[in-house]
Amino acid sequence: MNTLPACPKCNSEFTYDDGGNYTCPECAHEWSAQAATAPADSETVYRDSAGNVLKDGDTVTVIKDLKLKGSAGVIKMGTKVKNIRLVDSDHNIDCKIDGFGAMSLKSEFVKKV
Ligand SMILES: [Zn+2]
Repeated sequence: MNTLPACPKCNSEFTYDDGGNYTCPECAHEWSAQAATAPADSETVYRDSAGNVLKDGDTVTVIKDLKLKGSAGVIKMGTKVKNIRLVDSDHNIDCKIDGFGAMSLKSEFVKKV
């Protein structure tokens, strides 16, 4: 049985191990075997707009003006957000912003300080 992962490009199951790289015979896609074997029980990694890994308690700044749903408020670009909490959802940062209160942000709109 072939226990190698299916091709991420064309989903072919005929992947073969080409000395550390996986190769797909169907579409000729090659990828690193190492990247494909991430620990199964690893925690979700959250990254900011620059690719930095975010952790609970980090301080970030907002990289663009964010309009608040259902209100006229705008969180200005450059607003500092302290003590973030990461959550597994579409808006993956829970935080409190001075003057706004409890807030959910997307990690792609912030940058770690
Ligand atoms: Zn393929």
